Amino acid sequence: MKAIRRFTVRTVLPASLGALEELATNLRWSWHLPTRRLFEQISPAEWVASQYDPIALLGAVEPARLTELADNSEFVNRANELLADLHTYLTEPRWCQQNTSESAPKSIGYFSPEFGIAAALPQYSGGLGILAGDHLKSASDLGVPIIGVGLFYRSGYFAQSISADGWQEEAYPVLDPDGLPLSVLRHPDGTAAQVVLALPGGRALYARVWRVQVGRVPLLLLDTDIPDNDDDLRSVTDRLYGGGGEHRLLQELLLGIGGVRAIKLLTELTDIPAPEVFHTNEGHAGFQGLERINDLVAAGLTFQDALQVVRASTVFTTHTPVPAGIDRFDASLISQYFSTDLLPGVAVADVLAIGAEDYHGGTPGMYNMAVMGFRLSQHANGVSLLHGEVSRGMFGQLWPGFDQADVPITSVTNGVHAPTWTDPSLVALAQDKLGTLDTTAADWGSEAVSDLDLWTVRNGMREQFVQDARRRVSAAWEEQNPGVGDPGWFSELLDPKVLTIGFARRVPTYKRLTLMLNDPERLRSILLSKEHPVQIVIAGKSHPADDEGKRLIQKLVEFSQEPDIRGRMVFLPNYDIAMAQKLYPGTDIWLNNPLRPLEACGTSGMKAALNGSLNLSILDGWWAEFYDEENGWAIPSADAAGDHAERDKLEANSMYDLIENQIAPRFYDRDADDVPKRWVQGIRHTLATLSPELSANRMVREYVERLYTPAAIAARTIAADAFAPARAFAAWKEKVRAAWPNVAVTHVESGGVDAVPQVGDQLHVRASVTLGGLSPDDVAVEVVYGRARDGDTLEKPERIELSGSLEGAPSSNPGSSVQFPVVTQYTGTVTLSRAGSFGYNVRVVPRNPLLAEAAEMGLIAVAS
Ligand SMILES: *Cc1c(COP(=O)(O)O)cnc(C)c1O
Repeated sequence: MKAIRRFTVRTVLPASLGALEELATNLRWSWHLPTRRLFEQISPAEWVASQYDPIALLGAVEPARLTELADNSEFVNRANELLADLHTYLTEPRWCQQNTSESAPKSIGYFSPEFGIAAALPQYSGGLGILAGDHLKSASDLGVPIIGVGLFYRSGYFAQSISADGWQEEAYPVLDPDGLPLSVLRHPDGTAAQVVLALPGGRALYARVWRVQVGRVPLLLLDTDIPDNDDDLRSVTDRLYGGGGEHRLLQELLLGIGGVRAIKLLTELTDIPAPEVFHTNEGHAGFQGLERINDLVAAGLTFQDALQVVRASTVFTTHTPVPAGIDRFDASLISQYFSTDLLPGVAVADVLAIGAEDYHGGTPGMYNMAVMGFRLSQHANGVSLLHGEVSRGMFGQLWPGFDQADVPITSVTNGVHAPTWTDPSLVALAQDKLGTLDTTAADWGSEAVSDLDLWTVRNGMREQFVQDARRRVSAAWEEQNPGVGDPGWFSELLDPKVLTIGFARRVPTYKRLTLMLNDPERLRSILLSKEHPVQIVIAGKSHPADDEGKRLIQKLVEFSQEPDIRGRMVFLPNYDIAMAQKLYPGTDIWLNNPLRPLEACGTSGMKAALNGSLNLSILDGWWAEFYDEENGWAIPSADAAGDHAERDKLEANSMYDLIENQIAPRFYDRDADDVPKRWVQGIRHTLATLSPELSANRMVREYVERLYTPAAIAARTIAADAFAPARAFAAWKEKVRAAWPNVAVTHVESGGVDAVPQVGDQLHVRASVTLGGLSPDDVAVEVVYGRARDGDTLEKPERIELSGSLEGAPSSNPGSSVQFPVVTQYTGTVTLSRAGSFGYNVRVVPRNPLLAEAAEMGLIAVAS
């Protein structure tokens, strides 16, 4: 019989085990090894069966076992010690308290549509979510005062299984919040705190606010599945990336607008300070800026004044160069939702203008969430050096006239949370031999760790993974063939001694899941080599609506099921954090073969590298930045290939060649102790040089220093004196925008160099500029110079500001009695410091201390 209703009864712990309650509900357990060990000790079998979920574990162990532990003073003491340790961790000064100045923000709101913190809280689909989870964990470790905001999806993303014929099947098991480490945010009288959004037709969307504790960081998750909502609205937060169009819009309205309201509730109900800086991940949470504008309008500012305040305090991170990865809505739908009481202080026309694709190449009538993200933030970044560059190209139309290099989008390369992603056996090795628990700071070059030590640990990780993979394959088989028993060959599935290549990712086309099948016979011979055998492990989920992705999975599964192949190649269903934590350490080579440059960063290879796996990857994302010939292999991109098919063929062949001729021979080149010396050298090098760079601590510190702190300073400056600077800045921008069509460089001349210019000569530049009624203080006039390339483009140009002297007859600015000069003369000197071709130009850009970058307004005038 099916149950009509289901709920989870929480265990009542014996009083002496009270510490377990808080240890299980603060997600710090997910990266704190001693706490994990404590849970494991309760029941090693249930710990694995629960897939490392303390609450599920406590629900599953026999009460008799808990009684037994309650009387075990050693266990009780250990639990109490760990709780005391957690309390110290939660309150002691950490990096942020010790190393940042007063200028750092008192609090930061961090928005993401997904958070991947632990397999026990499946609220993520892939890279973006795991990154957000790692960001919160590192912020906690560093003491950075962040508040995370997201949605609580009743069914998470989905659970993947693979049918007998290789087709992905999705299941949406409903999560029970009572079985998860969540608590309801409540008012002092005990009632649940709620946010409410006005919807068209006089309806309202209500959401309850779950609070998750991620170490020191609170994470708020909004949930619409409550009785206050009409039935159709209860399902707004049913699934992550489940619906399109209106369903997706409702989720994003809730995340952005509801998210800001939820933070307000939190800061009113606790002593957590209100955010000074808001960080939004990808466009999904963009509406947060409009909600904050609405608040400021209620406080007496105009839309434009408020916009300056919001921009100053907002950081926007773009995460994808794939156009299909960017959310867009019909402008008419946006118009419908904002022609209500949703944000009474914001006019629909202003909302529409913020997300309009009203630039060259844009589509009229489309509302673009990334564009909105840029327009609502003064601080923007991509997620690797290469992705920063690609984003400056991709979004350059928002700052027309500026060179790509001047587009105001910087980059902070992603990182991964080392304590979450480093295998305990490697941590133990660092502790035993190098005296540190921090594998990213250990001296891996030291002889205190022998090659044999390191190789033994690496062998152990591979062995552990092979066991985990067999367990998973067997569990999947049992699920589909109950009671039949495993086929005999399962015991030979994967070999703990064979060179193991891992490949796991979501399945959008650009990731090229099936590139390895480009020449199936070549792959077969690589896998089945007698001398240098290779095995490949694959995992990944396709979006439920993406049948093309499912076909790719099917192709791989079919190949992997061929009788000669099946021991050497396996597709593991339901890629998630728990699998990933065994998979990355267990692979010798982490493979990544995206279509360059569509991988914004990629983080799975980073997680593998932290464990001493070597990367084999296209030079895309983070690998383009960090590949150094010793830490792995680069698959050359065949950008010049005639078409996709040819490109795939060339790149696949390079990959096969590398595996066959370099990777496999090196892996199997052993000394008398069966240690591959040369290979281990690569592991040491990877651990020593890459792991500090790849750590999310490095990433979060960069965000604090390069983005959050400047944003906090800008926010305080613009809000001082009851927002006087914001009002002045908005008025100034309007004036500059109106005058700009009349700003021009009318004449440029230079002198000072001979007919044959030499290095060291001084070029005197003189430019005449009309200011269109602006004051010389409103602009900067600069000579831009450098090596001139074909087509006269300047390569990596430098700039020197010219100084002005007023000349010409003053004229009056239309509509004002103030007198301005018609033409201003600007002069300056450039020293020719390099031989070769030289070119220069003169540009005029707006100047104001409240501008973060010269390009910010997208206004420029150049000599022609
Ligand atoms: C790290 C991770 C990802 C993202 O990996 P990419 O290399 O960015 O594609 C996806 N899923 C899981 C479970 C992960 O741990």
